[in-house]
Amino acid sequence: MEPTESRDSVADIWGARTPYGKSAWPERVDRRTLAEPERWVQSACVLCSNGCALDVGVRDGRIVGVRGRAVDRVNRGRLGPKGLHGWEANNSADRLTRPLIRRNGRLEPATWDEAMALIVRRSKELIAAHTGATIGFYNTGQLFLEEYYTLGLVGDCGVGTPHMDGNTRLCTSTASMALIESFGTDGQPGSYADFDLTDAFFMIGHNMAASQTVLWARVLDRRAGPNKPALVVVDPRRTMTAREADVHLAPRAGTNLALMHGLLHLLVANGWIDRSWVDAHTVGFEQLERIVAGWTPDRAESVTGVPAGSLRRAAEIVGTSATLVSTVLQGVYQSWQATAAAIAVNNLHLLRGLVGKPGCAPFQMNGQPTSQNTRECGANGELVAFRNWNNPAHVAEQARIWNVEPELIPHAHPPTHAMEIFRLAEEGSIRMLWIVCTNPAVSLPELARVRKILQKEELFVVVQDAFLTETAELADVVLPAAIWGEKTGCFTNADRTVHISHKAVDPPGEARADLDVFLDYARQMDFRDKDGAPLIKWSDAEGAFEAWKECSRGRPCDYSGLSYARLSGGSGVQWPCNAANPDGAERLYTDGVFNTSADYCELYGHDLETGGAIPLDKYKADDPKGRAKIKTVDYVPPPEQPDAQYPFWLTTGRVVHHFHTRTKTGRAPALQAAAPDAFVQIAEADAASLGVAEGDMVEVASRRGAVTAPARIGDVEPGHVFVPFHYGYWDEHGRRRAANELTLSSWDPVSKQPHFKFAAVRVRKVS
Ligand code: SF4
Repeated sequence: MEPTESRDSVADIWGARTPYGKSAWPERVDRRTLAEPERWVQSACVLCSNGCALDVGVRDGRIVGVRGRAVDRVNRGRLGPKGLHGWEANNSADRLTRPLIRRNGRLEPATWDEAMALIVRRSKELIAAHTGATIGFYNTGQLFLEEYYTLGLVGDCGVGTPHMDGNTRLCTSTASMALIESFGTDGQPGSYADFDLTDAFFMIGHNMAASQTVLWARVLDRRAGPNKPALVVVDPRRTMTAREADVHLAPRAGTNLALMHGLLHLLVANGWIDRSWVDAHTVGFEQLERIVAGWTPDRAESVTGVPAGSLRRAAEIVGTSATLVSTVLQGVYQSWQATAAAIAVNNLHLLRGLVGKPGCAPFQMNGQPTSQNTRECGANGELVAFRNWNNPAHVAEQARIWNVEPELIPHAHPPTHAMEIFRLAEEGSIRMLWIVCTNPAVSLPELARVRKILQKEELFVVVQDAFLTETAELADVVLPAAIWGEKTGCFTNADRTVHISHKAVDPPGEARADLDVFLDYARQMDFRDKDGAPLIKWSDAEGAFEAWKECSRGRPCDYSGLSYARLSGGSGVQWPCNAANPDGAERLYTDGVFNTSADYCELYGHDLETGGAIPLDKYKADDPKGRAKIKTVDYVPPPEQPDAQYPFWLTTGRVVHHFHTRTKTGRAPALQAAAPDAFVQIAEADAASLGVAEGDMVEVASRRGAVTAPARIGDVEPGHVFVPFHYGYWDEHGRRRAANELTLSSWDPVSKQPHFKFAAVRVRKVS
């Protein structure tokens, strides 16, 4: 009955070192329980994209703790502070337990029958009076695969709307697009096993020490053992990751592409490329060679602020190490020229022929735990299983699998991205917005505008969540959702490892699994296939998984060899898992053949400067036929620059103890105590010139809004300020502190990912 904690993970984030070198990562089982469990239930952590396998401890029908699963390939038993503490949110006293309906301006308790009847009536009215395109869905990177697959089918062929996207638009749409543009389809080429084998790491815009603590422990263990890999980190802040680096490059905000051009210039100039591999397996080298030729170290320094000598040291590491693992995250994805800069990292690997080989992989990392599934299963508006909406054969195949007419599947235009969905709601053509498991009133840019949209009288807003979030407070109907631990489903982490998460406890009150909500909605809307049979042909999570397996068969993300039984009891398994790869596949593209042929690829790609889609006939004329695409574009400066009125660069991001908008981690007492409030990080010299001391309250203002938070001084480049994006208003009333009050409503032209990493702001001391 005693609490058990293998360490104080809030203070000792990564735990004790278990050094190793070019071998299997040693096991270390982390555990934290508040009482002795009666039983353990297999699951995996859903508080970042790493997907650490764990068992949930249950006693008296409640979750009482977790322990890592030593058998699992992802974490070998380790858990970080969020994994060890985050489950406490399940037991939080302020969980939503009943549906709510807004009556006379107030959210009041209602029955499920009343709430669903209202949603169904409003949906039918809108579809009858206009079309399904008046209804939009904005979902998440935190549901299970089975729920996304069902939601995608409900939206596409039930409601008939092209307006569906996930909050993955904010975190991984650039990852997805970078992989598609270079390799033909989404999906990480490499594997966490490559971390065990590599000679060097290159991390750009990725504070791994904070965002994926267990993966960072793997890096630290390699660096503590024999055959220590080198580490190059690119970040404008001196983060915990940057402090460990052999070379830390701190570019100005918005200059990632210029920095990458400088690095690639040095690779080409020094002959640190595998030209015969490039000629055999890629197209497009000449264009890259032409563009990077002008990016000498001195020019790169003048644009990025990174000293030419540091750039040369970094280039020598990434250009000469025998093997290389690169990781990319929001510092690139949410910044200027995001897709082009992310692709530049793929180009680095392609120039050196370091893809599909042990110890070699560019990781276009994910932010959220199940965002890979949002992308695979169509909940981001794309066709399912990496099919191409612009390829009639793919649309027809999808229609055959779902037994619907091809015209029913929205494919006339690119999917509507999240920022456009909100714009359509703003202008009034979307009249019902169903928001599932996400909190746009804190996470989208330019929050004053987002609040105004959600409060529009003519917009019917449904929010499905476990807590009364800042977004739910603005809804017309709130549906209480079961969360992780309270439902069964599968999800796929950032290295294609599929885990099953079994239901451990019942949800509180009347809360329901998201899958059950979608199934009930489909039933009540009476969605049918082309033969008049129910459109959705499954009634539970395992049925949805079996249907998804067939849908994915023959595609890169082939799950056909998996089952609930196969995923239960041992380690997670990587896709593709099929007859050819019965145990899953560590690496893609091991034969140097990529998914770029016109009849197989996920998209025909984009003009990286304008975002214009490349048409089929143009793509076919230069069909890469299995060769990877080296694509690039020249650097141009960001449109909003610091000036006399707003003299600082703002950049936003995460802290180690929180996830997303703190809906869960803010309700885990130790995590909340460790990081209770927003802050404004500012360089020493800038603080001195403003007369700001550590802890002083400062106001940061942009052209769109202002926030106030205590100052934290140091570890950021002069001229820059950093504000974490986690903090909203459910536990803070009266003080504006959400970083997205300040950010820009603009986005990358290719991935449509919003620009959270640069904006011009001013700073002043307020007390
Ligand atoms: S690293 Fe990520 S998945 Fe692993 S325990 Fe921490 S938050 Fe959970």
